[in-house]
Amino acid sequence: MQQVRSIVWKSRSRGTLEGAGVKLHRAFGYQELPAFDPFLMLDDFRADRPEDYRAGFPWHPHRGIETVTYMLEGRVEHGDSMGHSGSIDAGGVQWMTAGSGIVHQEMPKPVNGRMGGFQLWVNLPKAHKMMDPRYQEIRADEIPTATLPGGASARVICGEIAGVSGPVRDIVAGPEYLDIALEPGAHFSHPVRPGYMAAVYVIGGSGMFEPHQDEESGNGTILLFGESGDAVGIRAGKNGVRFLFFSGKPLREPIAWGGPIVMNTQEELRQAFDEYEQGTFIKGAASR
Ligand code: MN
Repeated sequence: MQQVRSIVWKSRSRGTLEGAGVKLHRAFGYQELPAFDPFLMLDDFRADRPEDYRAGFPWHPHRGIETVTYMLEGRVEHGDSMGHSGSIDAGGVQWMTAGSGIVHQEMPKPVNGRMGGFQLWVNLPKAHKMMDPRYQEIRADEIPTATLPGGASARVICGEIAGVSGPVRDIVAGPEYLDIALEPGAHFSHPVRPGYMAAVYVIGGSGMFEPHQDEESGNGTILLFGESGDAVGIRAGKNGVRFLFFSGKPLREPIAWGGPIVMNTQEELRQAFDEYEQGTFIKGAASR
């Protein structure tokens, strides 16, 4: 018999400024370390007003992490210093493993006046921080949808549900990343591996995220499940609910975080910024 996990932490995403002045909402980040290990940060950049995001995220480096951009509407135009460029379009994902280092820019653009998406940061363990950079770029029509009994459906970005596997593969933290929609009143149960963390971020409607809980959580709420138990159990409210579900194996390593670079020690962080200034930051060409 499954033991359902309880919620141990819940909050609303908070407004913050990032990049060249993009107004976005941070679900969790530096302040919450290391509660979401192996994840570092989740930003919600859904926005109605172009002036809130037009400035974008001009040239900046990353090392030691993966950034996962998932678009609901509009697009992000992406380019890196090694000549790789393209766009992440509505319903698509870019899973970028920065590894030893990438210098890139990310510029949100409206399509039919709409733009919105999410960026999740996944930490890399010490043994993989300096791995070769890599992109996994997945178009909307390459992300399968699993339809579950009882009014639930899941877009599977990474991981597996109901025999449907996501297209993103070989991620060190062994994560799952699912976009789940429940019809009004529907119930959803999903296994979580022992020792793995699990969390959800509500992106529409409202629902109850643990058994016997009366209080519904709505759009913009981040909820972290406790470690005890082997499944999550979620029930949609009367208007249904849509949420991002993510889980992964905690790294339990020291974290030295300096803006877009996350290493294990302050010395490694210093070295990364020195190399960036000296023009020796980039180690290898990114592969697709
Ligand atoms: Mn970036």
